[in-house]
Amino acid sequence: MGEHIHIAIDGPSSAGKSTIANYLAGMLNIPYLDTGAMYRAVALALRDKEFCLNQKNVEARLLVFLKRVDLQVFLQAGLSARQRVLLNGEEVTDKLRTPELATLASNISAYKSVRDFLVALQQSIALNSDIILDGRDIGTVVLPDAKLKIFLTASLEVRAIRRYNEFIERGIDTTLEEVKQQIATRDNNDSTRKHAPLKKADDAFELDTTDLSIEETAQVIYAKAKIFNII
Ligand code: C5P
Repeated sequence: MGEHIHIAIDGPSSAGKSTIANYLAGMLNIPYLDTGAMYRAVALALRDKEFCLNQKNVEARLLVFLKRVDLQVFLQAGLSARQRVLLNGEEVTDKLRTPELATLASNISAYKSVRDFLVALQQSIALNSDIILDGRDIGTVVLPDAKLKIFLTASLEVRAIRRYNEFIERGIDTTLEEVKQQIATRDNNDSTRKHAPLKKADDAFELDTTDLSIEETAQVIYAKAKIFNII
């Protein structure tokens, strides 16, 4: 994967990873892969088939289940390029960003079989391309050799407000307190799980976006990419 522009953006929920990655993809005219959407799509597949996580041999049963999951992600370069996700041939892109699937994605992302399945898919997408990936384990597991690794953070308060506004705009009925609670629980799940927990890679650059706009954040990362000579 050596010669390609690989940018890893990790961080807790609602830190602005997708927004920034999308903006940056526009600046660099390269594609961007939202790996969270892939966990959400697997969560949707499991929910639709009423897969039971509370029975014995869950990892082995998940392995069998995943062999029959056909997950396809279509990417385009550029600012307004939108990632499309197909699950078993059906377009599910617009179904994924709900509070319910966020929580379920966080629960199922703790299973090794799910992570192995998705990490392999993510690495095959990144192979031989210039690309930005965002998630929780990109700098640590998916692209450990990425030339630029960013760990985006923001205060819980600000992250909750950003996500709440997004839900309200999309007509999802919720309260700020509820969103805050969901985000805090998800961060806790994601940081304490055994396999590939949310963690800053040692060589990642940490950026607190609490008081930064999207443009300012993207500019800081763009400047880093220049300094590191990767663009
Ligand atoms: O980023 P997003 O909120 O869409 O991710 C949903 C969930 O998927 C996260 O809470 C996390 O549990 C999981 N995830 C992960 N590793 C990634 C991306 C997402 O575990 N690389």
